[in-house]
Amino acid sequence: MFVYALIIFLIPFFLIYRRNHLDNRPGGVLNGQAINQVVDSLTREKFSSGAFNNDLQCPICYVEYDAADEITQLNCDPKHYFHNDCIVTWISKGNNSCPMCRKEIKQMI
Ligand SMILES: [Zn+2]
Ligand SMILES: [Zn+2]
Repeated sequence: MFVYALIIFLIPFFLIYRRNHLDNRPGGVLNGQAINQVVDSLTREKFSSGAFNNDLQCPICYVEYDAADEITQLNCDPKHYFHNDCIVTWISKGNNSCPMCRKEIKQMI
């Protein structure tokens, strides 16, 4: 009887442990300092249809690029570019992977 009580008592701890250790995001999860470091390293360029002619739409927010927009291009592929605001939001959530190819962003800087 005591053993069952012990197991039932331990289940919540086990579930919390699993939740904390099973974050399977590609490239892992960034936190505080690392997020700032990655965001600081991002390039910012004014959008021009000559330089960015692969996709005319941001793959994160699906809004068409405008001449006034600031674009960030990742080092994984010249075709992987986004609104600066959109990729900053993405990274600020702790994501450490290119939204298109899942390559680790921190490793590219
Ligand atoms: Zn966007
Ligand atoms: Zn990429």
